[in-house]
This record gives sequence, C-alpha cells and structure tokens, in this order.
Amino acid sequence: MRLRNVPGSREVIAANEFVVHDEQSHRGEWAAVFGNDHPIHVEIGMGKGSFLMEMARRNPDINYVGIEKYSSVLLRAIEKHEEAPELTNLKFIRMDAEEIEEVFAPGEIGYIYLNFSDPWPKDRHAKRRLTSDRFLKRYEKLLAPDGGVTFKTDNVDLFDFSVESAEVCGWEQLAITRDLHASPYVEGNVMTEYEKKFSGLGNKICMLQIRPPRNEGKNAE
Ligand code: SAM
Repeated sequence: MRLRNVPGSREVIAANEFVVHDEQSHRGEWAAVFGNDHPIHVEIGMGKGSFLMEMARRNPDINYVGIEKYSSVLLRAIEKHEEAPELTNLKFIRMDAEEIEEVFAPGEIGYIYLNFSDPWPKDRHAKRRLTSDRFLKRYEKLLAPDGGVTFKTDNVDLFDFSVESAEVCGWEQLAITRDLHASPYVEGNVMTEYEKKFSGLGNKICMLQIRPPRNEGKNAE
C-alpha cells in the first residue's frame, strides 16, 4: 500500500490536538494558536516530522509549524508527536504549500526550512518546485525582516536550480555547501529522515542558506 493511501488518516487528523484545523482562520494570529509571541519557524514538506520534533525539543522559545500535503504522511508525524506531548511549541497543518499566503500574513514567519523538497524534474513542472521564483516571492512577503530560508537536498540538479532561482530573485546567499556533513556548517545540523537515508547511501548533502532582498516597505499587504 502506498503510504499516502492509508485508510482513515483524514479522520484521525481531524480529531488530533497537534494539528491546526481551519488554518486560514489563524492568518495574522498565529501567536494566539501557541499562546505566546515567540517566532514561528515553518518546515514546508515536513514528511514524518522528525526534524521539526528535534528542533522543537532543542529550541523551546521557537514555535514550529510543519506543513505536509498528504494525510497519510502527516499521520506518521502525529504518531511521533503523541510520544512527546510536552512539545507544545510544535503544530502541524495538512495543506498544500501553494496556499501558504492564505495561512500566514506578511512578516508572520520567522524562518522557513525546505528539506529534501520534491524535485519535479520535468521542465514543465519547474514552477511547482518549492525553490522556484514563484515560491521565493511568496516567502519574501511572509518572512519577518530578519528571516531567511535553509534548503537541504541530495539532488544536485534541484540544488543548482535553487541556487540560480535565488540569485535571479535577488536573494542574498549566506551559506552554501555541496557536502554539508564534511563542512563546518554541520555543527548543530539536525538530520531529517531523508538526510539520514540518502547520506547513509553515500550521497552528499547540499545546503543553501539565503535571505530575501532587503526592500523598504516590505511586508505591506
Ligand atoms: N522534509 C522531510 C525530510 O527531509 O525527511 C520529507 C521530505 S519528502 C521527500 C517531501 C515531503 O514534502 C513529502 O512528504 C511531500 O508530501 C511533501 N510535499 C511536497 N510538496 C508539498 C507541497 N506543495 N505542500 C506541502 N507538502 C509538500
């Protein structure tokens, strides 16, 4: 059975306390969801959520939101979160990142993580890549003034595309490596599920840290 077709997953998600339902109703009011005004960091395409769980554990003063498109994948994250209910700074949303501007207000996101995003290898699907100019323009609006994006992948073609996309959009490159685990940036690195799997196969992990151009008047609706 394909993971995304697990029967009953939507019902379990609908009843789960770690999942934010009606996510569009919280736009501009995410502080109320967490009950504090700590920064909100988002992983788009979080999969089974182990990266965010570890980040939430290490950084109790940051609120984390994991976005995942598929119910059956989110179900796995929920199961893990249930083993660590003390992590009240971690919430999940089942949604497609295409709708991110309906869920967060300009400036509301402190930081964005893109870990092993789907490559969409065909040229005609390039706009669906989470590092395409279309998405970077969305992130630019949603990020707080000191915000940025960290992107990790073992897919060299997707990495090259993403580096170029960021350059074309005028984003500032803060860090780049094509072998994260052999670089100084590995210090403090939290491995994702895919990172463990692909580095275990001997693939090098690429990492890019970028921030949007610093325009005045940014974050205006
Ligand atoms: N980030 C995890 C990791 O590194 O282990 C999972 C990586 S997995 C290759 C990509 C995940 O992103 C999948 O679970 C997929 O369903 C999700 N995803 C892909 N496109 C998405 C989108 N547009 N919106 C939300 N989730 C998406």
